[in-house]
Amino acid sequence: MRITILTLFPEMFEGFTTNSIMKRALGKGVAEIKVVNIRDYTKDKYGRTDTPPVGGGAGLIEKCQPIVDAIRANSAPNTHKILMSPRGATYDEKLAKKYANLEELLIVCGHYEGIDERVNAYVDELVSIGDYVLTGGEIPAMAIADSVIRLLDGAITAESLQDESFNDNALEYPQYTEPYDFEGQTVPDILYSGNHEAIAKWRRKESLLLTKKYRPDLFEKLSLSKRDIKLLKEAESGETPNWEKEALEKGHKFIKK
Ligand code: SAM
Repeated sequence: MRITILTLFPEMFEGFTTNSIMKRALGKGVAEIKVVNIRDYTKDKYGRTDTPPVGGGAGLIEKCQPIVDAIRANSAPNTHKILMSPRGATYDEKLAKKYANLEELLIVCGHYEGIDERVNAYVDELVSIGDYVLTGGEIPAMAIADSVIRLLDGAITAESLQDESFNDNALEYPQYTEPYDFEGQTVPDILYSGNHEAIAKWRRKESLLLTKKYRPDLFEKLSLSKRDIKLLKEAESGETPNWEKEALEKGHKFIKK
């Protein structure tokens, strides 16, 4: 997959593409990121890409010509073109999965006070990363590129993606590391039981309870299986079910204190 990013500030992407998982994924050819400087396309004799808005008002607005020419020069018929905009549809994991199936994604970053309205006609979608205003579309573009690339084969292990937050609208279960006791907070004993089935059940229960607590909006959208409903009922009853008791006892024996 290729992600082309149109920006007035290409240097902002240097750290993003040369560190950590992105560096590795790009190095392995899992995806390609092409960063294009919109300024290279301006026909203005002074090299300008932005001017004050027609009708007056604060700040500078990016002009149509350099952006539209940059879009035309860097897209193919199959390129899905998106413009970063606080007005757009809110980006989420569902959209990330949709974009991860594309061969070509082109992201236009606005800056300053924004972009001439008429540029909207040259993209397929406006996308926002949330209800707040950033100084430019570069951070949103990085958020999108990162979340899409990590879904591609070879970026991270398939196992890592399996139980992640938002996969089926549920948040991920809590994770722990050694030591068992950190300043009085302990790792749940069941995680030491070695009983993979019980651990999976417990993690699913915790995932459902966390989603209900922190994101009731997502919880409403969950399609609960019979097993999920049973796990929630058990949790609501306040009594520890037998499968959990047995695994807890077993886990207790292996705890390194
Ligand atoms: N004046 C604009 C408004 O009130 O909607 C805000 C412009 S913002 C300072 C400059 C650029 O940052 C936008 O054109 C857009 O590309 C990007 N941007 C800012 N916040 C964003 C968000 N929440 N999601 C996506 N892009 C954003």
